Amino acid sequence: MNSAIDELAELHWQQDLLGSIEVGIAVIEKDFTVAVWNQFMENHSSVRPSQICGKNLFEHFPEIDEAWFKRKCEPVFNMMSPAFIIWEQRPYVFKFGTSRPITSTSDYMYQNVTIFPLASMTGKTERICVLVYDVTDQAIGKQRIDGLNLELQEISRVDGLTGLYNRRYWQERFDREYKVAMRTEPNICVIMLDIDHFKKVNDTYGHHAGDLVIQRLAKSIELATRETDICGRYGGEEFVIILPETTEKTANIMAERLRKLVSLDAVQYEDIAIKYTISIGIAQFSSDYREAVLWLEDADKALYEAKEGGRNRVVLAHSNGS
Ligand code: GH3
Ligand code: MG
Ligand code: MG
Repeated sequence: MNSAIDELAELHWQQDLLGSIEVGIAVIEKDFTVAVWNQFMENHSSVRPSQICGKNLFEHFPEIDEAWFKRKCEPVFNMMSPAFIIWEQRPYVFKFGTSRPITSTSDYMYQNVTIFPLASMTGKTERICVLVYDVTDQAIGKQRIDGLNLELQEISRVDGLTGLYNRRYWQERFDREYKVAMRTEPNICVIMLDIDHFKKVNDTYGHHAGDLVIQRLAKSIELATRETDICGRYGGEEFVIILPETTEKTANIMAERLRKLVSLDAVQYEDIAIKYTISIGIAQFSSDYREAVLWLEDADKALYEAKEGGRNRVVLAHSNGS
C-alpha cells in the first residue's frame, strides 16, 4: 500500500516538475507518436496532452518538415547521440506564438531545440525527448545588433553631404576592382571629375550655396550612371566613378552625357540660379598599370588636361600605364 502511495507521490512531483518548468518537453516514440506533452507545450500550442498523446506528431503539426525532422532524429535513435537545432539555422520547429505578444516584435517564438535519447531497460532507444527552449528575446536582441552593425557599416562608407561613397571606401573598392582586373583584363574605366571654378561659387554665393551645388552634382552623377557603377566623393568638389564592363568609348559617351546634363542645369539658391560646369578625365584599365594608383593618376592627368584645355570638357587618358 505504502509503495503505491509513494509511487503516486513520485508521479505527482514529476507532473509538477513537467508542468512548472519553462521549457517544452515532448517525449516521442520511434514511430513519431507522442508519449509525453508538458504544460509548456500545451500552453503555447493550445494542444492538450489528451489530444496529442498516442497520436502522430506530424498530424498535429503539419508545419514541421517531416523528412527533415526524421533525418535529425535518426542518429538520436540509432546512435544515441543528441541532436541540436538552433534558431540561427531554423527559427523554430514548432510554430508557437510569442509569450509576450504585446511587447515582442516577433510574431513567433524563436526556439533552440535539443533532442536526446531515452534508453529503455534493454539499452535500446525506443523514445526520444525533445526539449524546446524559448530564445525569442535572445534572437531579437541579436538581430537588432546585427541590423545596427550593418547600418553603422553603411554609414561609415558614405559621404555625409552627398550620400555617395566616401574616399576611403571608394578607394577600397577601386583597389579591389584593380586586383580583379589584373587577373581577368576586362574593359573597365575610371573617371575623375571636378567642378570648374568652384572657388568662385563659394566666394560669390557663400559656402552653403557651394554645398548645394556639390549635392546637386552628386544627384546628376547618380542619374547618369548605372547601378553597377561605383561612385564616390574623392575630395571637396572632386568625384570619382568606376565603370565596370565599359570601354573608353562607352565611358566617353556617358561622361559627355553627364557633362551636358550639368552644363544645362542650374542650382536654385534663394532667388538665384547658379550655373556651373565640370571637367572630366577618363582612363581605361590596362594591365600595363603596375599599381592601382597609376591607373587613377592617368584619370587625374586627363582631368588636368581638360582643365588646361578650357574646362567643361571630357579628356581620355592616352598613356595606358606607360
Ligand atoms: P578649377 O576649375 O581649377 O577646379 O577651379 P576651382 O575653383 O574649382 O579650384 P579648387 O579645386 O582649387 O577649389 C576648390 C574649392 O572647393 C576650394 C574649397 O574651399 C572648396 N570646397 C572644398 N570642399 C567643399 C565643401 O564641402 N563645400 C563647399 N561649399 N566648398 C568646398
Ligand atoms: Mg574645381
Ligand atoms: Mg578640386
